[in-house]
Amino acid sequence: MRTQCPYCSVQCSMDLIEEKIITRKRFKTKPNKQDPTSEGRLCIKGVNAHQHVVSNERVTHPLLKIDGEFVKIPWELALEYIAEQLKAIQTEDGLDAVSVYGGGSLTNEEAYLLGKFARVAVKTKHIDYNGRFCMSAAAAAANKAFGIDRGLTNSLHEIPDAKCIILAGTNIADCQPTILPYFRKAKKNGAFIIVIDPRETATSRIADLHLQVKPGMDAHITNGMLKVLFEGGYFDKTFIHDRTTGFDALSNDLQSLQLSELADLAGVSVDQIELAARKYGEAETGFIFTARGVEQHANGYENVRQFINLALATGKIGRYASGYGAITGQGNGQGGREHGQKADQLPGYRSIENQEHRNYIADIWGVPEEDLPRKGVSAYEMMEAIDREEITSMIVMASNPVVSNPNSIFVEKALEKLRFLVVIDMFVSETAEMADIILPASSYLEDEGTMTNLEGRVTLRRAGRVKPNGVKHDWEILCELAAALGKGEYFPFTSSEEIFEELRLASKGGLADYAGITYSRLEEEEVFWPCPDMSHPGTPRLFETTFYHDDGKAKFYPLQKPRNPEETSQEYPLMLTTGRWMEHYLTGVQTRRSPDLLKRSKEPLLEIHPDTAAKYGIEDGSIFQLKSSRGTMVIRCKYANGIRRDTVFAPFHWGNSQSINRVTSPALDPVCKMPEFKVSSVNVAPLIEK
Ligand code: SF4
Repeated sequence: MRTQCPYCSVQCSMDLIEEKIITRKRFKTKPNKQDPTSEGRLCIKGVNAHQHVVSNERVTHPLLKIDGEFVKIPWELALEYIAEQLKAIQTEDGLDAVSVYGGGSLTNEEAYLLGKFARVAVKTKHIDYNGRFCMSAAAAAANKAFGIDRGLTNSLHEIPDAKCIILAGTNIADCQPTILPYFRKAKKNGAFIIVIDPRETATSRIADLHLQVKPGMDAHITNGMLKVLFEGGYFDKTFIHDRTTGFDALSNDLQSLQLSELADLAGVSVDQIELAARKYGEAETGFIFTARGVEQHANGYENVRQFINLALATGKIGRYASGYGAITGQGNGQGGREHGQKADQLPGYRSIENQEHRNYIADIWGVPEEDLPRKGVSAYEMMEAIDREEITSMIVMASNPVVSNPNSIFVEKALEKLRFLVVIDMFVSETAEMADIILPASSYLEDEGTMTNLEGRVTLRRAGRVKPNGVKHDWEILCELAAALGKGEYFPFTSSEEIFEELRLASKGGLADYAGITYSRLEEEEVFWPCPDMSHPGTPRLFETTFYHDDGKAKFYPLQKPRNPEETSQEYPLMLTTGRWMEHYLTGVQTRRSPDLLKRSKEPLLEIHPDTAAKYGIEDGSIFQLKSSRGTMVIRCKYANGIRRDTVFAPFHWGNSQSINRVTSPALDPVCKMPEFKVSSVNVAPLIEK
């Protein structure tokens, strides 16, 4: 069967061959050599991506919690019970007391339908999703700078022809390994590669220059680079004049900057900043890529704007082999954020507060515009609203918020206050354990639907496997729940293709325009949005002639001085930064149930420099407590010579006492509400303190 790996935004396609050896079933995975994105490569996650699907831990019946124990119940009863509970809660606590929490792994159709379900069937303003923790900073920055948010402005195929590439806070070698060869090819073709990351990683090892920045201080580097570019005459004055606004304010601010001070604040040398700026400025073509290292900050929006400033100032955007990209993490991190799962968005990137946009979508959905809820709050803010008992019920689909949210001890206590929690998942995740009722959902191998990769390339993934008895597709569950709530007429769908047909209409004329894409077209070719009609070829490269603001121009952002929301102190002297490992996906609900992946990486490890470890009396491989003002978690340490001495790193793929988010900071970016996952002040202490 032909399928796609669900574990990152590259969406590598592959053939999965199911063999029966006597009574045992075995799977063989073969990469698809014709895949235009992965070019026939798969990483270890892709090779083992089927393992969780055949896990015997899958939930195959609705489960109702009675006296603390889950009991199997029939679907009809489950749906009826949920509808009754939700109606009773909304009667007593108000419509917005029920919330919906989605995920960036859902197909485009399911993400679209979840947004419609929240607004039309539940009539709540409270919907958001785990992509808030992934793409919100880059999305907000791209929207403000360019007038549109698409992960990459150019196709990956242009990377080998770039002459300078900046990889800021992105560890492609571990997180999207199958696209690393594009960068290796660029290097072979003479590109100068700059990596900005507090840690030495497999990605930084291919760099010509590694700026080992202090966590959170990236914007001091971009400010310094801008100053060098300005003084060296590297700015593209024609591009700035013809295609941008806001440059004057920025250039005035540049004069007063002191390079030595910026370098000191960023924890790098003046020479390094000068070299990075000169190489990027001199290069005829160039790319800047950011990811969560730059974005997952309480000033993540500003950070990304500063990197975009570099591309605009040098005119390295809107042309071949030059552009900007936010490397999306989740399986459908791009498509999942385009069609209405976000608190402030309607399908096609329409705004929920824009009257024209509301009218258009209300018309497509066949509901009065005044019945559409207004803007809700972000994912973590929903947890705060639960704690205040303003939200008293939650429906979670394809997400594990008790592990993925920052400050997870607080989040767990908040979720315990809910009157009613519904979790729709394949497994009893840490969040599902807390649920009143669990509904079993199908896996990616059993689901049909479209996905949009990090480039904005839309692909069709056909179902290759029949779902187990008792399990339903996420879209089927939403349609049936809507019917149980008395709103079935708005959810008459019998296939994902029918949902996609409505999505096409709903996105038409919006920024993420899918009107020219159909399932039959996707059988023949993959198409980059925007694609406004069937004769349109799609748009692999953005901004060649115009940006998407009304005046057609991109916007510079004034210089900012980054500040971490919490400083280190005597009590908490180290900076904790978090991230991914190659073997696991998000909170590990699926990959921790994949034996070969778990075997390779069975527990979280705290990377700590041996000199730092020696200072705290910590031996390599020992288990200790990691503490912050939020709480404590238990973790084994691993010496890492390549990490800064003031910083420790841990992955976020484990739950319960091993969840790193027990200690992370809940500070939010004021613009995009991205939490500060990348800098928390912590200390390390022996397990038993004297
Ligand atoms: Fe490809 Fe990403 Fe899956 Fe690896 S995790 S096989 S890079 S889609």
